[in-house]
Amino acid sequence: MVYLGDIVSEFRYCKLRREWTLFAPERLKRPKYLNNKKEAYLGEIIHEKCPFDMGREEFTPNEITRISQDGKWKCRVVPNLYNALSIETQPVSKRDGYFEKFNGFGAHEVVIETPNHDKQIWDYDYNDLANYFTIIQERVVNLKRDSRFAFISIFKNQGEEAGASISHSHSQIMALPFLPKKIKEEIEYKKSYYSEHKRALLDDLVYEEQGYGKNIISQNSEFIIYCPYASIFPFEVKIVAKKKLSSLSEFSKSDISALCDITKEFFNKYYKALGEVAFNMIINNAPYEEYSEKTKEYYRFNIEIEPRIYKIAGFEINSLMNVNVMLPETAAKIYKDN
Ligand SMILES: [Zn+2]
Repeated sequence: MVYLGDIVSEFRYCKLRREWTLFAPERLKRPKYLNNKKEAYLGEIIHEKCPFDMGREEFTPNEITRISQDGKWKCRVVPNLYNALSIETQPVSKRDGYFEKFNGFGAHEVVIETPNHDKQIWDYDYNDLANYFTIIQERVVNLKRDSRFAFISIFKNQGEEAGASISHSHSQIMALPFLPKKIKEEIEYKKSYYSEHKRALLDDLVYEEQGYGKNIISQNSEFIIYCPYASIFPFEVKIVAKKKLSSLSEFSKSDISALCDITKEFFNKYYKALGEVAFNMIINNAPYEEYSEKTKEYYRFNIEIEPRIYKIAGFEINSLMNVNVMLPETAAKIYKDN
């Protein structure tokens, strides 16, 4: 159970927006470890080594899995110490007068991507990326065995502007007992698009981007990377599977290898074009709910990378319509030239 005083983490349903909010008071207690300085909650900076470094494994909760080479770990997954959700909580939904809530059941894990404190994703070699995607694949497969989970969210917050509180390179995995509204709507749309056209929506978007050409950064036999025609963020990028793959759980070794190649090529360009700009990366897999062989027909595995160059403001919050100052054609050209 996740407590702060006697407040347990919980989902509360907003009947106005028809969406859940996750209240996770424990997250407020997170210290900040940026550049190896521990900034304790509410201010004070303490010089202390980071808990994700090699040799400091006792500062993280019990390890879930690791990949080792030559007797040393290269990549580890641990439960999130400041978890927003807990797997030990029983999933229970309750009525609270007119209000509705659901307790904070779910999984919240951290992928410590490298033992090296100073290595960032743009410094990774092929082997680092192969370990990264392989360990995430293992978690996607294992969490899927728990039938209480409907949805898995995998994301990386790189840099303080993207929400990272620790500079040591890491990603997070959250598994939820229901689909967020946005995901539910997206799945319904993808299914109905498939039933009308007998093709996956994202396959058709990729086909259009290939025809248009100007937004494509690179492609290999299995993946394509481009700046979407109607991008929300400046320099936004999407990596999409060209084969019928809907989830990392379906990837063979050679699929992972092709994904590593294109990811490595992209982050080299990213670093040259933008430098150490903060970004969010989301690894989108088909939800667990209603997953079957048929999922591969309408859902396509993809990765979104959203640089945090400008902050969202009032108009965006009010209208949910984004203002983007950079055309994807220009962004793609800048990436390609680097
Ligand atoms: Zn570190």
